[in-house]
Amino acid sequence: QGDSKDFDSEQQSVCPFCGVGCQVSVKIKDGKVKSVEGINGPANEGRLCVKGRFGFDYIHHPHRLTKPLIRREDAPEKGLNVDPSNPWTHFREATWEEALDKAAHGLQDLRSYYGGQSVAGFGSAKCTNEEAYLFQKFIRQGFGHNNVDHCTRLCHASSVSALMENVGSGAVTATFNEIENADVAIVIGSNPTENHPVAATYFKQFTKRGGELIIMDPRGTAMKRHAKHMLQFRPGTDVSLLNAIMNVIVEEKLYDRQYIEGFTEGFFEFRDHIRAFTPERMSELCGIAPEVIREVARTFAGAQRAMIFWGMGVSQHIHGTDNARCLISLALLCGHVGRPGTGLHPLRGQNNVQGASDAGLIPQFMPDYQSVTDPEVRSLFRHIWKGTDLLDQPGLTVVEIMDRVYRGEIKGMYILGENPAMSDPDVEHARRALAQLDHLVVQDIFLTETANFADVILPASALPEKSGTVTNTNRQVQVARKVVDAPGEAREDWEILVALARRIGLDWDYDDPREVFDEMKMSMRSLHHITWKRLERDSAVTYPTFGPDDPGQSVVFADGFPRRAGRAKFTPARVTPPAEVPDESFPMILTTGRQLEHWHTGSMTRRATVLDAVEPEANCSLHPSTLRKLGVEPGGLVRLTTRRGAVEVMARADRAVAPDMVFLPFAYVEAAANILTNPALDPFGKIPEFKYSAVRVENPEQV
Ligand code: SF4
Repeated sequence: QGDSKDFDSEQQSVCPFCGVGCQVSVKIKDGKVKSVEGINGPANEGRLCVKGRFGFDYIHHPHRLTKPLIRREDAPEKGLNVDPSNPWTHFREATWEEALDKAAHGLQDLRSYYGGQSVAGFGSAKCTNEEAYLFQKFIRQGFGHNNVDHCTRLCHASSVSALMENVGSGAVTATFNEIENADVAIVIGSNPTENHPVAATYFKQFTKRGGELIIMDPRGTAMKRHAKHMLQFRPGTDVSLLNAIMNVIVEEKLYDRQYIEGFTEGFFEFRDHIRAFTPERMSELCGIAPEVIREVARTFAGAQRAMIFWGMGVSQHIHGTDNARCLISLALLCGHVGRPGTGLHPLRGQNNVQGASDAGLIPQFMPDYQSVTDPEVRSLFRHIWKGTDLLDQPGLTVVEIMDRVYRGEIKGMYILGENPAMSDPDVEHARRALAQLDHLVVQDIFLTETANFADVILPASALPEKSGTVTNTNRQVQVARKVVDAPGEAREDWEILVALARRIGLDWDYDDPREVFDEMKMSMRSLHHITWKRLERDSAVTYPTFGPDDPGQSVVFADGFPRRAGRAKFTPARVTPPAEVPDESFPMILTTGRQLEHWHTGSMTRRATVLDAVEPEANCSLHPSTLRKLGVEPGGLVRLTTRRGAVEVMARADRAVAPDMVFLPFAYVEAAANILTNPALDPFGKIPEFKYSAVRVENPEQV
């Protein structure tokens, strides 16, 4: 790290990667980021992981888009065929005026000819709250429907669905820092040391002071070294395991009767339902011994204060909503909600996925999760948006939109900072769909795989190049401050949105993100008592906050829930097998996820020098015994084939992966995990089953 002589200036901001939302101090030299240090933010207290400390230089990568691009008349057929360092055979440079006109006219023409429903939009969880708000408004106001979504659909949509249904709010009930006050914590379907590394440091501290950590995951995680119990259950059997734990709590009357009577509904139906799920019966399904199930149930129910954390191992299943329902019921049974050291916490993925969802970048809700079907809500927004008619039908979700594109029903898209050509399940299907679009506008910082299919590409700003608010997994609204200027002619996303909105006929006159934030406050109760001035002073405020000097509520729902009669609900969950189970042709289980050094589709971290040097090559993990059977040495290639496609990828030996499983990170375009994944959806959250596909693993030399 540099001393004061090594840099010209210093700015405080927020890490652009994961939902932990670490606050950083960025040192700048000659207009570039020289180094990054953690500062005393509420979620990190000076700590950073490798991405936050060494990952910022992606913003200076030579692949950055610095001028608007328009597809050439003589370009080759649309496909995944553009070299990001040499896009000129496919695209030509354009002025902003020309590019914005072309982008807007294309969308307007489709609206005029086919109707507003022919255009859909994907916004981004990597942008600010103000930009997310503007994006959903652009689609809703500009095209008269709710077909607008973002990557929450691919990570925690099922968790939000279950939380909204049973607790009445989609956000966490307690910050992860509350683990400091807990006696017991369950971490299920989450690998925090890789995916939420700074949060993981709090979990480790918790065990050092005697807290009992219970890990439940089909894959052994690094965190298991710190755990009292490691339940490595069979993939896809979460409901069996969780129902068995709750069966013990019910049968042994370990539940908190007073809490259940005072704060919940549906207990008696739930109790009757859960009686069938005995540990003995469920053990056969989930592979965990009945005595272990009993011990874990007694430990959790007997704790004074206990928390539950979960990740995409819970949510990315066709039964993801049922998985989350079980976790909610487990916490309610034992009264582990609403007090310090208790709570439900789905660890959110991208840096601003909580904020983008709060801002209404989802098809069924306006900002602050106000239903599009509620006439009073539509009336409120008609007032704020000055007379706009709003559709009362929930819109289509990410995968549903791509299906409509594939069928030719949606003909134009505006995609801001999302990369469905990498992130959608069965991604070859998504790529074929994108190639068919009559008009695709992509706004991004790099020529992503999705931008390969664009008609117009608008060069945008990375988070360190703009100012705005972002909201982390803890419900903490923070100020992301501009650290450096965007390169070339790249603009801030909110500015581009405003320019495009005016061109499609919307009466938008924002001159600053602060004006957008003020408009958001008109409809979002979560922002009561939060002002831009206050955020600049305090750098973070946890919502809800009950006054200008209240730092915000780390724990919510002490006095009841934002549901009918203030009561949370028990919703019974049944065992549903994965959509596709192993058979003779595809005998193993594929699961996908992230790695410590790489972020999502890799567009940022694979262009960060240190991160790419540490983890430069596509890889998968297999148990050593599986590799031996295949006759493949660690470091050799394997071929992975599912019903949707095949990839060849370097294999690592990893005892944490069960012998019948393969783990494949999804950041690598050269072995794109989503060529293989199953697009089957959870019926409630509409999230795809990324965590479970039937796969055949082969030695390519023997095929
Ligand atoms: Fe950034 Fe997340 Fe790492 Fe913190 S834990 S430095 S927010 S990637």
